Amino acid sequence: MKLRDLAYYRTGGRCQALYEPKSIQDLSSVIADLHKARSPYFVLGGGTNSLILDEDWPGAVIAFTQMRAIAVKGTQIICEAGADNSDIARSAQKAGLGGVAWMYRLPGQIGGTVRMNARCYGGEISQVASIVDAVLPDGTIRSYAASEGIFKGYKDTLFMSNGAVIARATLQLHPGDQASIDDQMRFCEEDRTRKGQFLYPTCGCVFKNDYSVGVPSGMLLDQAGAHDLKAEHVQINPLHANFVYNQGAGSRAILEMTFRMRDLVYETFGVWLEYEMEILGALPPDLKARVEEKKNPRLQMEKIEGLRKLFQKR
Ligand SMILES: Cc1cc2nc3c(=O)[nH]c(=O)nc-3n(C[C@H](O)[C@H](O)[C@H](O)COP(=O)(O)OP(=O)(O)OC[C@H]3O[C@@H](n4cnc5c(N)ncnc54)[C@H](O)[C@@H]3O)c2cc1C
Repeated sequence: MKLRDLAYYRTGGRCQALYEPKSIQDLSSVIADLHKARSPYFVLGGGTNSLILDEDWPGAVIAFTQMRAIAVKGTQIICEAGADNSDIARSAQKAGLGGVAWMYRLPGQIGGTVRMNARCYGGEISQVASIVDAVLPDGTIRSYAASEGIFKGYKDTLFMSNGAVIARATLQLHPGDQASIDDQMRFCEEDRTRKGQFLYPTCGCVFKNDYSVGVPSGMLLDQAGAHDLKAEHVQINPLHANFVYNQGAGSRAILEMTFRMRDLVYETFGVWLEYEMEILGALPPDLKARVEEKKNPRLQMEKIEGLRKLFQKR
């Protein structure tokens, strides 16, 4: 099977083995076996923040297609790693619980959402995830309380550095006002649809925001003229320049477009953008060098000040 069949962004070559565990224990024994065999692997959630490379991957992939359960217990929602964000928001809505309406139509699964500390519409998963059960790289099962510092800030979590695979998350919610939950969910859906987010496969924002710059990366890209960058089967979302549509392209063409976007912002504003998009697979050396390239900021303050004013007016 080609990974592109599982990938939201519709890219990805073959892998050596695909594991679809059915429970935490099952996940733990898969990881313990891979550890013993020293077999490389990567984890795939919904693939909505990831670009899977088209080169065949000489290792395993773990996917959560069989771990999607969601259980409401009082004011808590307990979700297996593969639970879909919108399904979680709908379960909370049905139970009259507030705290996750912002997750409605946020593509992806709770495991990936916790790892990325996803955020939107004033919500962030760190605000509600109280316990995260994970499997360490040697197969040991470990429970983390949010108070143990698993969330480190904007798009930064312990799971990005310790290699643990998230198996389950407990979300602590609160009784909510039904009308405002319904309204917020409707707003999230309408806003994302209006911004063309679901027209073609994307991986959400390609680049993180740099809050020290004071202007979102999408605006830097837009004002630098990223919409004029053209490539076959790759298009920048006309309504949000940090989203790159895949209209039938491969992973190399998408990556090359992101290099051009990053260069353009650097040439125009002196800001070197950092990837938010996760790259899964083995990068060929030429692409690896480009992905890992770093340039010192050379902020063009006059131009950036102008943009800050424009942004504050919006
Ligand atoms: C149209 C669109 C809009 C988006 N809007 C937003 C937005 O507003 N805000 C925002 O923050 N994001 C946004 N995103 C990005 C994405 O939706 C979120 O980051 C989402 O939480 C990722 O979940 P996923 O399961 O798809 O992760 P994946 O892309 O599958 O994985 C992301 C990373 O986490 C790892 N991972 C996946 N599952 C696990 C697990 N169980 N344990 C450990 N590691 C794991 C993967 O290996 C990868 O490194 C958007 C994406 C799209 C396509």
